[in-house]
Amino acid sequence: MNHPIPKQTRIVVVGGGIIGCSVAYHLTKLGCRDVVLIEQGELGGRATSFAAGLVGGAPQAGLRKLIDASAKLYASLEKETGVATGWKQVGSLVLAQTEAHMIQYRRAVPLAQAAGLDVNLITADQARQKWPLLETNDIRGAMWLPADGRVDAKQSALALAKGAEQRGAIVVTGVRVTSVLRKEGRAVGVATTQGEIAAEQVVLCAGMWSRQLALQCGANVPVYPAEHPYLVSKTVAGANADLACVRDPDAAIYFRTDDSGQIVLGTFPKQSKPCLVNPIPADFASAPLPEDRSYVADAIKAAQHRVPTLATDGFEKMVNGPATFTPDTNFIIGELPEVDQLFVAAGFNGHSLAYAGGAGDVLAQWVLAGEQPYDLWGVDIRRFSPFQNNRDFLRSRVTETPGLQYRMAWPNYELESARGTRKSPLYDRLNALGAFHGSKMAIERPTWFLRGGVKPAMDYSFGRQNWWECLAAEHRAARENVAAWDQSSFTKFMLKGRDAVRVLDRVTPNHADIPVGKFVYCGMLNARGGYESDLCFARISEDQYYIVSGSAQPTRDFYRIHKHILPDERATITDVTHAYGVLGVMGPNSRKLLDELTDADLSLKAFPFSSAQWHSIANANVLMIRITYVGELGWELHARMDQIQGVFDAIQSVARKYDLAHAGFYSINSLRMEKAYRAWGADITTGDTPYEAGLGFMVKLDKATNFIGKEALLKQKAAGVKRRLASFVVEDPDAMLWGGERIFRDGKFMGTTTSGYYGFTLGRAIAFGYVKSDEIITPEFVTGAKYTIDFAGKQYPAQAMLQPPFDPKNEKIMI
Ligand SMILES: Cc1cc2nc3c(=O)[nH]c(=O)nc-3n(C[C@H](O)[C@H](O)[C@H](O)COP(=O)(O)OP(=O)(O)OC[C@H]3O[C@@H](n4cnc5c(N)ncnc54)[C@H](O)[C@@H]3O)c2cc1C
Repeated sequence: MNHPIPKQTRIVVVGGGIIGCSVAYHLTKLGCRDVVLIEQGELGGRATSFAAGLVGGAPQAGLRKLIDASAKLYASLEKETGVATGWKQVGSLVLAQTEAHMIQYRRAVPLAQAAGLDVNLITADQARQKWPLLETNDIRGAMWLPADGRVDAKQSALALAKGAEQRGAIVVTGVRVTSVLRKEGRAVGVATTQGEIAAEQVVLCAGMWSRQLALQCGANVPVYPAEHPYLVSKTVAGANADLACVRDPDAAIYFRTDDSGQIVLGTFPKQSKPCLVNPIPADFASAPLPEDRSYVADAIKAAQHRVPTLATDGFEKMVNGPATFTPDTNFIIGELPEVDQLFVAAGFNGHSLAYAGGAGDVLAQWVLAGEQPYDLWGVDIRRFSPFQNNRDFLRSRVTETPGLQYRMAWPNYELESARGTRKSPLYDRLNALGAFHGSKMAIERPTWFLRGGVKPAMDYSFGRQNWWECLAAEHRAARENVAAWDQSSFTKFMLKGRDAVRVLDRVTPNHADIPVGKFVYCGMLNARGGYESDLCFARISEDQYYIVSGSAQPTRDFYRIHKHILPDERATITDVTHAYGVLGVMGPNSRKLLDELTDADLSLKAFPFSSAQWHSIANANVLMIRITYVGELGWELHARMDQIQGVFDAIQSVARKYDLAHAGFYSINSLRMEKAYRAWGADITTGDTPYEAGLGFMVKLDKATNFIGKEALLKQKAAGVKRRLASFVVEDPDAMLWGGERIFRDGKFMGTTTSGYYGFTLGRAIAFGYVKSDEIITPEFVTGAKYTIDFAGKQYPAQAMLQPPFDPKNEKIMI
């Protein structure tokens, strides 16, 4: 492994921890032999060396298959490479102390089973039979995952590196990458302590060092280390090596036995300790961090309760290592949006071993194919913006995210740390009116407004949460009268230049060459015809477009459009999210209310649906856009951020007269579900095409431009689709859905709901889901069957519809 470093290669992998070794291994396994892995110390010698060795965990939508892939890999590596990994398939027990956790498991287990995972719900007694030392009096049940296990982390890194070397990779240790070389917007190699290596692609697997390496070349990888300790007990009678790994999420602890009869106990404390040294020195994490027993006091107490013999046997050592955490508890992979051909896999939140095998495989596929193999939005680097890479933000956030590893998967969970980073100019005004703020992309935005003495806090449950009546009032106001939302968090871009129309025509399937003043709903597709995003745009002059997209997509959408501006094209895209505020005024009385504030003719004839016009409101020039995501007559008012307060105050001046209700983002969700408006990232994803999603109207196959995805859609249109998105309306008015529930068609499992919520006008829970057929799907196939939706084991009959459940003929909008 002490090769001289080559001058040139195809791919450089930076970092020889478990992740870098796995990426190098999988790149070579996929046939790319021209790989150099560079490690500043020794392989697996940093965070990897501290790992407690658990490979497994609770089933998590979409990601659990990566853990399964890791387990399979560790089991086979020794045979392949001759390096022992210490793999032992002992299984996992995930305990539940509360009924809420049991509901969570009853929702998750059947889904995981349907996806082919070996997992079962078992009783507390069955859990004790598997782990006789367990105290189970306060346990309501558990998940049993027999395929999980434990492994020696460092040995596994060595085995992966050996596998990579056997297929031609060069592995270099004791050499530090000092910077990523960047030329004309792309990575072209690395500089090291022993000279430069030219490369076509660079993959950062530098653990907690990834952030500073990325920053040096103008990119953002928001990761931050925090202390993550475990303890090792004295020898415990009965703690034999074959016992399963146990997780007790309600107590924030995990433990396993080892080959010498000791128990290794780890914890994700509710309040974690960030431990960044800035910059992180090259030799950091070569030795454990100082011990702090007070940090693990709660864990010890919980463990002594769960395994009573530990109260007498005690712990003989503590290992406090740094692990790397992200702002939202999911790890980070993908191509860095700011630098082409620079990839990353980092921030595994204390679960690197568990994910390394699967994540290394999907990232290797991504690097070699230039596209993610399937929808990985939940872990995609582009879900963040530079705001979340701010040091204070990260430091504050990682006091919370480690402790969330075992938290309840509550619907609408709002993070509490690092709040107030970004605020709309209306923040204080809305607070004074009772707004309860949530946060998206680090910006505060109202989720609901306090009414009728409801306390200003989230009272989480899987049923009707404490804001239910507040939301019902906002929903009714929008349907029956008029409501206003601060939607300033929406992503906004200006695309300007002689060739703007060409660019937009290529990246979207709808017509971009529209008249000035027209506003169009559209998507951006990949080559397979799947949704990379959905957005709207207005042509505001012959050579300028105003583009509006979801609050979660500024990074993803900006770089997607930016990268598709060809070198010889004259067009520039500017992110104007922070330059324009947005107020939505929606409801049957919105026209009357706005008539009082503007001279504009707001009639259907003069201001038709899907159009955008500049008008004065108070002292502001406002781009009034006649569009709706709530299914009502209404306008979005886009005004400069420094004038949006004036627009808001103008609305307030007539608010009482019209009994206007202020509303939050949760009500947008309930309203849009009734109207069957899809949400990108849930109902339409990179794997769903417009024809499958029932949005074929925005695909203009007849336009001359060869837009991205056209070829795939031409084929699909000719062949027909075998899956189709439908709305499901549940018969029982008391049911509640959140998305992720199982759908049964004529008693047969068919898939899961992509979104779920409650429609207050219909008085029923509503969901979206894809209906699948072996043949080309027909409307009769979708609607002519009996459906039930399973919520934690209870079956709710539901009706499938291809038309919106509310206002199917658009009578509420075209007025
Ligand atoms: C106490 C503890 C217990 C844990 N238990 C588990 C567990 O049971 N199961 C589980 O799945 N996970 C566990 N983890 C998490 C896991 O061990 C680590 O977080 C993980 O191994 C990190 O892997 P990595 O490859 O991303 O980082 P690292 O192992 O830190 O690897 C990154 C490598 O990059 C190198 N590098 C950085 N910068 C440069 C540079 N400029 N040039 C060259 N090389 C560079 C570093 O030297 C390092 O070797 C635990 C973590 C801790 C601290």
